[in-house]
Amino acid sequence: MNRPLSIVLAATLGYFLLPAGNLTWAQAVTATTTVPKTPPPVTVYEVDLPDAAALVTLTQSGLDVANVEGLTATVYVREDEQGLLASFGWPARVVEIQPGPANEKLVNGYRSNPDIAAQFAAWFQAYPNLCRYESIGKSVNNQDLWAIKITQNPDTVADKPSVCYISTIHGDEPIGTDLCLRFCELLLSYYGTDAGITAFVNSTVIWVLPLMNPDGMDNRTRYNANNADLNRSFPVYATNFTTTLFDGERLGDAGRQPEVAAVMNWYAEQGFTLAANLHAGSQVVNYPYDNIPGVSSGSSAICPDDALFQNLSLRYATLNVSMHASTEFTNGITNGCAWYILVGGLQDWSYRFLGSLHVTIELSYTKWPSAITLNGYWLNNRAAMLAYLKAVHMGVRGLVTDRVTGTGVESKVMVQDNAEPMFGHPGLGNYHRPLLAGTYNLSWSAPGYITYHVDNIAVTSDTETRVDVGLSNGDVNGDGQVNSVDLQLVINAVLGRTSAVTVDADVDGRGVTATDVQAVVNMALNRG
Ligand SMILES: [Zn+2]
Repeated sequence: MNRPLSIVLAATLGYFLLPAGNLTWAQAVTATTTVPKTPPPVTVYEVDLPDAAALVTLTQSGLDVANVEGLTATVYVREDEQGLLASFGWPARVVEIQPGPANEKLVNGYRSNPDIAAQFAAWFQAYPNLCRYESIGKSVNNQDLWAIKITQNPDTVADKPSVCYISTIHGDEPIGTDLCLRFCELLLSYYGTDAGITAFVNSTVIWVLPLMNPDGMDNRTRYNANNADLNRSFPVYATNFTTTLFDGERLGDAGRQPEVAAVMNWYAEQGFTLAANLHAGSQVVNYPYDNIPGVSSGSSAICPDDALFQNLSLRYATLNVSMHASTEFTNGITNGCAWYILVGGLQDWSYRFLGSLHVTIELSYTKWPSAITLNGYWLNNRAAMLAYLKAVHMGVRGLVTDRVTGTGVESKVMVQDNAEPMFGHPGLGNYHRPLLAGTYNLSWSAPGYITYHVDNIAVTSDTETRVDVGLSNGDVNGDGQVNSVDLQLVINAVLGRTSAVTVDADVDGRGVTATDVQAVVNMALNRG
């Protein structure tokens, strides 16, 4: 429950509530005109590997592998890494040197970071009841990282799941930036006329961060201005963390790249149930894990939600015709590590550390196509982008509250036989646990409360099953104390003795039994 986020939120709220054109907002934009850092050159190679063993060697070498197709790997090589690549003796072709020539492609129809800020401001003016936007932090070159929130009544905390798209963590993969902006426009402009979109916006908090690496996009580089691959810069299980933020693990943002630290804080604060980050260089939906210690590149690293992730990934891939028809990936989806191992990515961090269902979507084999093709990409991905996020509305949801006070409790939600937890929100205590059709045993826990169980919850396809939970801290009579009076009331209930005070003695959800007595004893002794 260690959440050192309030300072960051307070710092960003200043922009969040200000109308466009406000002086403070304008100052924030002009503050970006410091001398930008341009990173030293990086050479992009296509490397022909002799066999699968060489692929494992490459992925363990520390070189930055960006794509694998058969035995051909795309590798980004910094100047000081040239000798390492050469030492392997594999045939390698230079396909690009980054940074590229000055922004010639940017002006040809791709929208830049200032364009995004202006567009968000315009939408805020046009749709004040549907969106808010903010800068979640700054890039190395002091550019704002702009995010927009779209939902009905955006200032109201409501019982809705939060979802997001994040794009262009790699600056040379800007298709997703454009698709994100078109996706926002779709939601905003069809709200009120398209019933499906209206229902989705009413029932969901949708966040979009179209450009996570604006310096990279300006320089036409994969990396940020510190020459770091941001999708290799997130905390790594089990090197940097072994539990979760909820369980008291530190966020671990100190010393990270500024774009990564900003996204970490924002992501943890929002508590996204379902998300994706958008790339280019291949065409596939890639799902967790990208990495399990001990599993080598090319082998599947299976996560506890594997079937759910395959289902979610197919919701996207089946609606993108060329992705689904892939000759490289069956049905256009892949386990991350089965494709190639990736350590320090956003996807695995958000799933393992925050309990967020997160996939990586590769939109095109061409990383930076002509801007005149963007409308075609949009038409091929529009339905898929919508269907993927809509999938958040399946499984089990509800409110977790203190059963005496009725206030919301931020809880840890576990599904029996699944080792990865998910988490409810603070404030209202709402939780959203997407699940495929089936029967599940769930439990909810929170510091200071007795863990509550509900068994045999029936979930049907593409529907939400509501299970509201009242957690007890052992104070069954609600007098503000957990003591022998509470204990006696529970004992009486277990023994079937009628009592002057009627209480709900089933504090653990498994019927009125000796386990309730033990639970209240533990709370009275402060061992809960
Ligand atoms: Zn990428």
